[in-house]
Amino acid sequence: MTTSSPWRATVLTLFPEMFPGPLGVSLAGRALASGVWELEARDIRASATDRHRSVDDTPAGGGPGMVLRADVLAAAIDAAEIGQDSSKERPRLLMSPRGRPLTQARVVELTQGPGPLIVCGRFEGIDQRVIDGRGLEEVSIGDYVLSGGEIAALALIDACVRLLPGVMGKEASGTEESFSDGLLEYPQYTRPQLFEGVPIPEILTSGDHAKVAAWRRAESEALTAARRPDLSAQIPVKAPNRAGRQKTPKNKTDG
Ligand code: SAM
Repeated sequence: MTTSSPWRATVLTLFPEMFPGPLGVSLAGRALASGVWELEARDIRASATDRHRSVDDTPAGGGPGMVLRADVLAAAIDAAEIGQDSSKERPRLLMSPRGRPLTQARVVELTQGPGPLIVCGRFEGIDQRVIDGRGLEEVSIGDYVLSGGEIAALALIDACVRLLPGVMGKEASGTEESFSDGLLEYPQYTRPQLFEGVPIPEILTSGDHAKVAAWRRAESEALTAARRPDLSAQIPVKAPNRAGRQKTPKNKTDG
């Protein structure tokens, strides 16, 4: 009988000591310790060949900063793939502010394979020839610039790991969250029933599951329309909630 290998993230970085970092605690940390997933942080500098172990050089054509060398990074990627099962092709990602923005849909896809190889850039970025030659998919975690790809890689891995079977206490909690159906999540409440004079919306304590579901859907739609019209435009209209919803959820006390 063959057992399948756990989902695995291989990270290429100049700072392997940044891993597992926050992924070593809580849900992800427990799952890592129990073998639900694996993490391999590889030092790009180990593939440097000159006596100074240099990994970067000045940009061709001039300009500020330094660029990660193609020969060093390509050798690091090739070394990371030695001994990998070639029948299970892994996505090769490059964390990059120029990349396609990471979405929950892409995160779900990434959990369905063997797990990605992730390159963390530094300096001004990496030589384009290694992006093209090694088929790296550029992935951004938002329209801002970090000093390196490591924090972006940690965010991407965290988003994947929490969806792996057995990581979240209740598997269903991954299916009702923001973005899972193209909407932002509805507001959540818990005890105490009355907080600073504000009660939990009555409908949530009514015990009527159909009404609760309809209320949550309407709240999700209103919140998405108010905050993320870009997402809202992509949601298929579902009668009657979308048409019937008039208010934005400013007043959390409404029922
Ligand atoms: N010169 C690059 C540019 O303008 O696009 C920015 C380089 S940034 C200082 C260094 C590295 O941080 C990048 O190569 C990338 O790996 C990572 N990085 C920065 N911002 C990111 C973002 N929003 N998403 C993903 N990775 C990011």
